[in-house]
Amino acid sequence: MAVPARRTSKTRKRKRRTHFKLQVPGMVACPNCGEYKLAHRVCKECGHYKGEEVVEK
Ligand SMILES: [Zn+2]
Repeated sequence: MAVPARRTSKTRKRKRRTHFKLQVPGMVACPNCGEYKLAHRVCKECGHYKGEEVVEK
């Protein structure tokens, strides 16, 4: 089994970990009601999509 040649420094470890963070997947504000919704999907609050288009009530 491969073993690391040298210990990872505190700085190196911390720099690597700057890349893992929590992220909200594709959330955008609805242009109609301002509620956050998933991108490219009908707004679940007001049923709008692409501006005016009412898809459901
Ligand atoms: Zn909306």
